[in-house]
Amino acid sequence: MYIDTHCHLNFSNFDEDRAMVIGNAKKAGVKKFINPGDDIKTSLSAAELALQNPGVIYASVGIHPYNAGNKLERKDIVKIMTNETIAIGECGLDYHSYKGFDAVGKKNEQIGLFDTQLHIALEFNLPVIIHSRDAFADIFNVLDQLPALPRGVFHCFSGGLEDIRNITDRGFYIGLDGNATYSKQLAMVMPSIPLDRLLLETDSPYLPPEGHRGEREEPKYIPLIAQAIAKLQNKDVKDIEEATTYNAQTLFTI
Ligand SMILES: [Zn+2]
Ligand SMILES: [Zn+2]
Repeated sequence: MYIDTHCHLNFSNFDEDRAMVIGNAKKAGVKKFINPGDDIKTSLSAAELALQNPGVIYASVGIHPYNAGNKLERKDIVKIMTNETIAIGECGLDYHSYKGFDAVGKKNEQIGLFDTQLHIALEFNLPVIIHSRDAFADIFNVLDQLPALPRGVFHCFSGGLEDIRNITDRGFYIGLDGNATYSKQLAMVMPSIPLDRLLLETDSPYLPPEGHRGEREEPKYIPLIAQAIAKLQNKDVKDIEEATTYNAQTLFTI
């Protein structure tokens, strides 16, 4: 059994055929799904989806760094947490400007929003799903100033050897996506990612694997990511399946 630890099944991209997407994933051996929110609205719809699919879909409450500047506070986020909330995120820092969003100009707001969510994770003893883009140094800075480190995952990892060391030294997990099937950068560092820190995710509807680029990503492609990792780590794909499922169950207590 595989677990897709990061997919946005609540997004409108799946409104037409959500049940079929979930069914096809199950046929491919992907039996559980973690659906993170990226703002108030999607955190609520993720919880709703979890409620409709108990034991299959799990929800995380989080505000993506692109929403920094919306003046969200601790109380706004805590208010929407429910019994279905198994993690905080996605949250983090993203210094890649996008569609008119001045990411670097909003650095301080991003750091504040990230820090707030890390404190919530600590307060409720929940794992945190970290989104990091062009921002590793500041992420580690914010983490290291906390009274304690939460547990969590750096989702959609695409860094270097030093980043892997910095992440695993702090006890965090590393989430790998469809780009692991074609990224030369990831291929280079793959042997250095410890199996006991590895998680599989699709970030559906984004980041389809090789052979499906340009299409909508779906959780059914998780085995393709596992196969690519197995090849690069010179391991049996069964070992990747077992280890990543165990890691997901351990981190998210699902
Ligand atoms: Zn992300
Ligand atoms: Zn995401």
